Amino acid sequence: MSEHEHDIAVIGAGMVGAALALACAAGGWRVAVIEPSTPEQPSDNSEPDLRVSALSAGSEAWLRGLGVWPAMEEMRMAPFQRLAVWEAASGPLASMPGGRLLAQQARTEFNAARLGRDHLGHIVENRVTRWALWERMGQQTGITRFCPASLQALKQTEDGVTLTLEDGETLHVALVVGADGASSVTRRLAGIGTSRTQYRQQAMVINIRHAPPAQAITWQMFTPQGPKAYLPLPEADGSAWGSLVWYDQPETLDELMAMEEDRLLAAIRRTFPLELPDPEAAPARGRFPIAREHAHQYAHGRVVLVGDAAHTINPLAGQGVNLGFQDAAALARCLGTASAQGDPGKAGVLAAYEAERRPRNRLMMDAMDLFYHLFSNTTPPLHLARTLGLGLAGRVPFARERVTRYAMGIDEQLPAPIESLLKRLA
Ligand SMILES: Cc1cc2nc3c(=O)[nH]c(=O)nc-3n(C[C@H](O)[C@H](O)[C@H](O)COP(=O)(O)OP(=O)(O)OC[C@H]3O[C@@H](n4cnc5c(N)ncnc54)[C@H](O)[C@@H]3O)c2cc1C
Repeated sequence: MSEHEHDIAVIGAGMVGAALALACAAGGWRVAVIEPSTPEQPSDNSEPDLRVSALSAGSEAWLRGLGVWPAMEEMRMAPFQRLAVWEAASGPLASMPGGRLLAQQARTEFNAARLGRDHLGHIVENRVTRWALWERMGQQTGITRFCPASLQALKQTEDGVTLTLEDGETLHVALVVGADGASSVTRRLAGIGTSRTQYRQQAMVINIRHAPPAQAITWQMFTPQGPKAYLPLPEADGSAWGSLVWYDQPETLDELMAMEEDRLLAAIRRTFPLELPDPEAAPARGRFPIAREHAHQYAHGRVVLVGDAAHTINPLAGQGVNLGFQDAAALARCLGTASAQGDPGKAGVLAAYEAERRPRNRLMMDAMDLFYHLFSNTTPPLHLARTLGLGLAGRVPFARERVTRYAMGIDEQLPAPIESLLKRLA
């Protein structure tokens, strides 16, 4: 595509867009990256970022391949060796002395050592990942960063796309990748619709400083009001830190958001299980709408979507960016190298990408909903077994363990019987 100065424009240098740009540049493509703001550079002694992600072993391997993982390790991250999920009992047992501990029903726990691994994953601040990717892009000759810049209009013709940026600059490329997140402008300009389900519960994230030592476990407790999760954060400022995710009704979260810090800490102590190290401070909190949304198509003409622009998923098991990295890896693989492919916007290339990723993303969305129901104490096991076609209630624990491993990114595939069950249920 010699008439274009760039072969591919990636709209959005979030974690997914930036990683994809690096993978495309490694394939010899000339890439333009459009991003409204430079990511914030993390500093050693700053308090942890509110936005963090549990990165799976698969994401670690992909980021290592792109050459960014060592820089992320040098900044900071928290590996975890154990992962636990359980449902809190409701009713009289829960109010007995020590009942909260006794009441842990159906606890499913994984230990890296027992699975023959060093760790199950890492909790990484989004700004650490974004900064490492941003720096790496700056060192790559095949990448031009347009920042601050944002996409305003696009016009497709048979052999290319003309992009207009907010400052009036225009770019001509052969392929546009929308990596501009859940409210993707690229998706809207390409005329791609979505199916959306707004979950009743919403999520609030709270960073806490807690009593040492730093934890190497991430856990999630299901309650009738919504799950409560703990993610370990790296030590910062000489203290131990954790990220809490509190799922609840929007009205409850409104109250929590408005509370003074002391009252919020008291509410955390009352609501979270005894596993939680005593919180000493809660300096940062934020609320996030959560919805399941899936683009009707991943590609339209010479525009293709990746990451949250293509799908958002319940963050329950923290798989959003892991799926986005899988999209990026698949698209880069389908695009191949510039010397072999010629035109990156060929319909067959984009169709191959969509054929690979759409069913996998759909499966994870369904698995997430199944994961929720398998631990939700609003659904009794027998009823659940019948609804899910599991035959016997005794099969619930097996399904629960395997779906948890998949949903949490420990396994990359579901056992065939559960995968076919999910397809039938969907
Ligand atoms: C509470 C919560 C917890 C989560 N926890 C996890 C977790 O533990 N693990 C996990 O894997 N995922 C998690 N996720 C999901 C994860 O954060 C997202 O899936 C991920 O950030 C999506 O990355 P992205 O690069 O696709 O999009 P985004 O991060 O949204 O990036 C989009 C980029 O596009 C840019 N942009 C926007 N508009 C334009 C425009 N017009 N022109 C150019 N650029 C534009 C933005 O500035 C941004 O840089 C969580 C989500 C929530 C809400």
